Amino acid sequence: MALASTWSVALLGVDGVPVEIEADISGGVPGVHLIGLPDASLRESKDRVRAAVRNSGEPWPQRQVSIALSPAALPKTGSGYDVALACCVLAAARSVPPTLLAGTVLLGELALDGRLRSVRGVLPALLAARRKGLCRAVVPLTALREAALVDDVEVLGAATLSEVLGWLRGETELAAEPPPVSTSRTASPLDLADVLGQPDARWALEVAAAGGHHLLLTGSPGTGKTMLAQRLTGLLPPLSSVDSVEVTAVHSVAGALTSDEPLIAEPPFVAPHHTTSVAALVGGGTGLARPGAVSKAHRGVLFLDEACEFGPQRLDALRTALEEGEVRHARRDGIVRYPARFQLVLATNPCPCAPAKDIDCICSAPARRQYFGRLSGPLLDRVDLRVRMRPILAMHLNAEDRPESSAVVRARVSQARQRAVHRWSAHGWQTNADVPGPMLRREYRLPSQVTDVLNCALTTGSVTARGADRCIRVAWTLADLAELDRPGVDQVATALSFRDRRAA
Ligand SMILES: [Zn+2]
Repeated sequence: MALASTWSVALLGVDGVPVEIEADISGGVPGVHLIGLPDASLRESKDRVRAAVRNSGEPWPQRQVSIALSPAALPKTGSGYDVALACCVLAAARSVPPTLLAGTVLLGELALDGRLRSVRGVLPALLAARRKGLCRAVVPLTALREAALVDDVEVLGAATLSEVLGWLRGETELAAEPPPVSTSRTASPLDLADVLGQPDARWALEVAAAGGHHLLLTGSPGTGKTMLAQRLTGLLPPLSSVDSVEVTAVHSVAGALTSDEPLIAEPPFVAPHHTTSVAALVGGGTGLARPGAVSKAHRGVLFLDEACEFGPQRLDALRTALEEGEVRHARRDGIVRYPARFQLVLATNPCPCAPAKDIDCICSAPARRQYFGRLSGPLLDRVDLRVRMRPILAMHLNAEDRPESSAVVRARVSQARQRAVHRWSAHGWQTNADVPGPMLRREYRLPSQVTDVLNCALTTGSVTARGADRCIRVAWTLADLAELDRPGVDQVATALSFRDRRAA
């Protein structure tokens, strides 16, 4: 009897679970027997592995090969186990020594000719391996940089199965850790200096950046809604190292990382089209659920252009993600969770005819209301800042008053954010948008003369209770930007006007 074992990792969402792979070779009818597993789940992998082994010039054992994966309840779909399976079988057959396999995680799909193909989720897989105490990993060469993001794990890259087998035999070395990835801020090519006019919308963008508030831009085509939205991430601070790994893990599982600079250090900007599927928007799909746009926008900005065109089903799915800060998908193998804490920016035309100038609109009043009504009340209620874009006038095109650059605005945003962090740090909140309503109404309650205007709005029903809380959060951000210790009447009134401004 000849037995060997090694490790790979299964992924449930962004959570990795180390999987021990064992192979046993015994007399009996030649073939591959998968213990405790439905044959179908690994059949493709089995065939690929056998072909890759043969095409790498290695004999496949002409006896019965039994393979077991544990824990058995984990998802066995996917191709990430290929390399581990191949090495394990060859070690059981005594073609390679088993020594190095013991504490090593092997990740990668095998092409039929023996090349290692990259798999999704290398970063979260290795984070899980590290938790298990496994301190060495062999990954496809193309995933080496991503793998190297995980400290305290020795990562080695291989291009082919032959290289891995040579390494197990002590004949060849594998590529070791690549040089550390630079996390220095790369200047975004999108600068606010390129956006002409729109003082209200620029101000709203700055407030949104400073407090982490959601934003709605309403205006005719060509007024620069998209240009502004694209520049929001450039006003936000770079991601903390913890957030950076978290965001990178989501993008890794989504298969959206580049191999040369895998670490995502800046807040992502994600802009799904209004025809995108619900699955692409919030995640899901067949088999193992993949992260959707809301999760790729985690710790960054989700921009919905032509928001009214998204339809109730997508907007409702979006609202759920917004409320819960994560998306859950029920799967046969368990619940798959993806984080989804993003800043929402909506842009919409004021009406179905989308006129270049407001006076050219040919829509009836009910048609305008109905169009705007497509943004559901509960979703809209969560949008703190609503601005109407102005028509671009020739006077704005004067080259001499060049608009403020992103760097100038970012400096103010950074100052304001520091004030907020300082105030809330004992509670663990980063931005004013994070602060729960009760805290604003009790410990940080504002004097009644300051909130009078808000109480009036509540009484008349022009703002909901939740809307009033959101107003207070914006007022705190306005105070932070004005370098005040707390909001006054002006800040509360301005916050309310941002909310009240009926966009349609
Ligand atoms: Zn119209």
